[in-house]
Amino acid sequence: MNNEMHLQFPAKSINESFARLVIIGFIAPLDPNAQELNEIKTIVSEGVTNAIIHGYEDNEDGMIDMKATLVGRRLRVTIQDFGKGIENIELAKQPLYTTKQEEERSGLGFMIMESFSDQFEVHSEVGVGTVVSFEK
Ligand code: ATP
Ligand code: MG
Repeated sequence: MNNEMHLQFPAKSINESFARLVIIGFIAPLDPNAQELNEIKTIVSEGVTNAIIHGYEDNEDGMIDMKATLVGRRLRVTIQDFGKGIENIELAKQPLYTTKQEEERSGLGFMIMESFSDQFEVHSEVGVGTVVSFEK
């Protein structure tokens, strides 16, 4: 089955669960198993949370774009923010690396997203924003 969607929503924490539900609804026709669902939900949550707390630093005026495509059983999702961007992506991906230690972040988001994805990419430009994409 082939399909696509594009969703835009403000960077509010309530929209983290909204984005998760949208992706679950989008892939429902594929009848995914519980593990696949949990992994996809987790990747989306981590990506949207990062856009809210790091990209926009909790400024709720920022907008997040989420796009998804289905080609057969292959899901591809991109989560994009137009926030502050990441200076050093390789460093940011290191397990336990976080720029928000004081907020008790563990620095594991990217590692979890990568390990639950078949393919995982981060593109970012300082002052322009960040796009994370994954395939599953
Ligand atoms: P955790 O996800 O475990 O709560 P974390 O968010 O700090 O902690 P990661 O998700 O791995 O850890 O992200 C690592 C670092 O990459 C962040 O601390 C932040 O500096 C940077 N980062 C991640 N996503 C973005 C983004 N959308 N915009 C700007 N910086 C980001
Ligand atoms: Mg994170």
